[in-house]
Amino acid sequence: MNYSLRYKLSGFGFCAFICALFVWGVFSYLENDVKKHQELIAQKHLTTVDLIVVDVNTTLENLNNFNHHACDEQMLISMRRAMFRSKYIKDIGYLNDDHLLICTTGLGLLKKPILENNPDFLGKSNTKVWINRSLVFFDRQYRSFIISKGNFNAVIDPIDVHRLLPSDFTWEIVYPQESGYLHLLGTKDHFTDKKDKSDYHYQECSQSTGYCVALSLNKREFYNRYQLAIPILSIATVLLFLTCGLISNAIIKKRTSLETRIKTGLDRNHFYPLFQPIVELDTGEIVGCEVLARYKDQLGEVYPDVFIPIISKANLTWQFTESLFSKTLGYLSTTELNKNDFRVNFNFFPNDISAGTAEKIIKHPALEMIKSTIVIEIIENEKLVGSDVTSYLESLSKAGFKIAIDDFGTGYSNLQQLAKIPCDYLKIDRSFINEMEGGSIRSTLIPHIVKMAHQLNVPIVAEGVENSMQERALQEVGIKYAQGWAFGKPMTLPELIELFNRQQERE
Ligand code: C2E
Ligand code: CA
Ligand code: CA
Repeated sequence: MNYSLRYKLSGFGFCAFICALFVWGVFSYLENDVKKHQELIAQKHLTTVDLIVVDVNTTLENLNNFNHHACDEQMLISMRRAMFRSKYIKDIGYLNDDHLLICTTGLGLLKKPILENNPDFLGKSNTKVWINRSLVFFDRQYRSFIISKGNFNAVIDPIDVHRLLPSDFTWEIVYPQESGYLHLLGTKDHFTDKKDKSDYHYQECSQSTGYCVALSLNKREFYNRYQLAIPILSIATVLLFLTCGLISNAIIKKRTSLETRIKTGLDRNHFYPLFQPIVELDTGEIVGCEVLARYKDQLGEVYPDVFIPIISKANLTWQFTESLFSKTLGYLSTTELNKNDFRVNFNFFPNDISAGTAEKIIKHPALEMIKSTIVIEIIENEKLVGSDVTSYLESLSKAGFKIAIDDFGTGYSNLQQLAKIPCDYLKIDRSFINEMEGGSIRSTLIPHIVKMAHQLNVPIVAEGVENSMQERALQEVGIKYAQGWAFGKPMTLPELIELFNRQQERE
């Protein structure tokens, strides 16, 4: 799979992960919100139940504190007054010591007393509780709760309680028994230890009254509750994905941009040298080579015409030159090309020849193992002559380096000025050689350049020699050395060694 596709896929995966995290985060928040809401409602329910129980208990306790031997008018008034004060009680009854219901606030004195039967459960503070008792009031049948304490009982209407406990949850109120939980109100069997995990469930028991509440919100109710949140979440997720996609695309673009690749390539060893032979035209003998940098990473190759300007613009010239210089000398040191009469040409940026760097080149540790002659190729420009660079070149020259003026003939060319700088070789740019066959004015300057160079005693290297016709023509005008496809394209060091050895064997 190609690298930019792989980058894009990993960007896509990363964004999908971020979106999943976002959705998960929002759902956890909503879930938490539901849980908090549940807890709050459950506590409200319990408080309401507790309030009812306390209201009933205190009402019945107060009545029991009266002198109550018979169900007379006074007693009925007290019972009615107590009922009136109570917020939840619908009816109050009086039972004699034989557990016979004698009178009630609703019916007055009963014609026939009713014997109290066994309660459904015993509540806290000596209360007996009946649930779902059917009572007849004014020709209507009611299902009620009856709570009795001492000689009095109170009727609670479950519909009232229901009205007090509204919620969008499914709920149940129970009373714990030894054998389980007794259902009082709400949805039966909701209070349980085995809840379906797909539901949000909460349950709690009141410390004071012992009643328990269970609440749960099922998935459908959950979606109903967040009707608006879910489409908003979907839109937000899509927007997040798109934004993440744009950002990751921009990052990938930056990462895969040539500038970034070249800059990181310097640290990651993505540069390597190729070698192009330089031959002596008269003998055809390989006398040296030019080191040409190449770049290769996961995304492919980049050529010098692209990376050289980038390195230059980023002011990384010395880092680049130094790294290629030491790497190449390291490779070369162990080969048969490491010998006195073999020249190895390195391209240096004009900026590389400065106060600090000239010294570093001269004292470079990689040179200790090198016998070959190192030629520093430097592009001829107007800054070269009369500047500090001249003095640095002189010190390099004194230290045994040879200096070649590269690309001579392009831009600023002045043979007279050349006399003022140390110059061991003159490399004529390949554009001159190219135009030789067409006989351009520029190419007709070659013999003139050769004559002047001879006067300065500087041998010429012709660049970009592609065919034998050019080779012969250059030889005829007295050019000593040449470099170009006619003798070999830039190649790896083993290939150059092989070419060199084959030539030696022929001789
Ligand atoms: P240059 O120093 O003039 O190098 C010669 C260029 O001409 C090389 O291009 C080489 O491949 C190409 N060439 C050689 N023979 C022929 C031929 O017969 N025909 C044609 N058409 N081309 C030929 P390359 O390797 O692409 O390098 C381009 C330029 O990049 C170099 O020009 C040099 O200025 C720069 N460069 C390359 N490597 C380095 C380096 O390590 N350091 C510095 N500072 N510059 C470098
Ligand atoms: Ca060169
Ligand atoms: Ca050149």
